[in-house]
Amino acid sequence: MEYCFGVDIGGTTVKMGLFSGEGELLEKWEIPTKKGTDSKPLLKAVGEEMEKCLSRKGIKKEEIAGVGMAAPGPVNEEGLLRGAVNIGWGDVFLGREAEKIMEIFPVFIGNDASFAALGEFTFGAGKDVSSLIMITLGTGVGGGVVLNGQVLMGKTGTAGEIGHTTINPFETLTCNCGKKGCLEQYASATGMVRMAEKFLQESNKPSPLRQLDKITAKDLWEQAKKGDELALDITKYVSHLLGMAIANACYIVDPEMVVIGGGVSQAGQFLLKMIQEAYAQHVFPHCRDKKFALAKLHNDAGIYGAAAMVFEKK
Ligand SMILES: [Zn+2]
Repeated sequence: MEYCFGVDIGGTTVKMGLFSGEGELLEKWEIPTKKGTDSKPLLKAVGEEMEKCLSRKGIKKEEIAGVGMAAPGPVNEEGLLRGAVNIGWGDVFLGREAEKIMEIFPVFIGNDASFAALGEFTFGAGKDVSSLIMITLGTGVGGGVVLNGQVLMGKTGTAGEIGHTTINPFETLTCNCGKKGCLEQYASATGMVRMAEKFLQESNKPSPLRQLDKITAKDLWEQAKKGDELALDITKYVSHLLGMAIANACYIVDPEMVVIGGGVSQAGQFLLKMIQEAYAQHVFPHCRDKKFALAKLHNDAGIYGAAAMVFEKK
C-alpha cells in the first residue's frame, strides 16, 4: 500500500492531508503557520505532524510515496521558491530543505494557486476535461493553468498569475506585487470592496450598502443578487474586468474549461454567469461557448493538487 501527503502552506494555517494511492483523502487537519524569515521552524512542525499521523495510522515511512507541498509564492523551474511575502520568507529551495528536515522523500513543491488548479483538474470541477485555467478570487487573485494533464508553472514560476496581468495601465495605486493596475487590485475580495467604496462615493444611487459600516465582498454580491442597482453596477464592473482578463488568457491557452474558485466564488452561479457573459464579449465567436464551472474542492484544492503532483511524478 502506498500513501502520500499533501501540504498547503497558507498565510494563517498549514493544511495537511494523508492520501491513499488511489487519491482518497484519508485524513486532513491543519496547524497554525509559523511566520518569520526562516522556513525551518514551519517545516519542522510539519514533519512532526506527519510523524504523528503515521504512528496514529500505523503506516511506515517507507510506504509514503512522497509529499506535495503548495507554497504561497512563485516557484521556478529549479524548485526555488522566490519568496513568500505573506509569511516572511525570502528565496528558499523549499523542497530540498523540507526533505532534509522532515526526512521524507521526495518532496515536490509548487505555487499554491497552480496546485489548486491541478487539484480541481484531477479530483474536482475539471475531472472530465483535458485542460483548464483556474482563477481564485480571495484576498488576492490567484491563477493556475493545467494543459494536457500537466500543470504549467513556467520558467520563473509566473505562469498562471492572471491576478497580476495589467488591466489598467493608468492606475496610480500600487498592487501588493509592486506593480500598478493589476487585475487583483479590482477583482480580489479586497479589490471589490475598494471598487464598492469608489462607486458609493461617486454615485447618488440609494443602496442598502450605504447602511453598512464596513462592506465585504459577500455583502456586495448578496445585494447584487437581490437586485440592488448600485451593487449590480459594481459587480458588473468587476466581472467585466475578470471576463476581459480571462478572455486574454484564453487567446494564449484556449483551455477546455475555466474554473472560478476562492471565497468570493461562494456567490455561485450568479457570479459565474456574470463573468462568463463578460468573457464572451471579448473573444472570437467560436470560442464563446467555453465551459465555465465553480471550483468544487474549496479549501482542500491545494492539498488535493499537492497529492496529485506526487502521483503525477511517480
Ligand atoms: Zn500585482
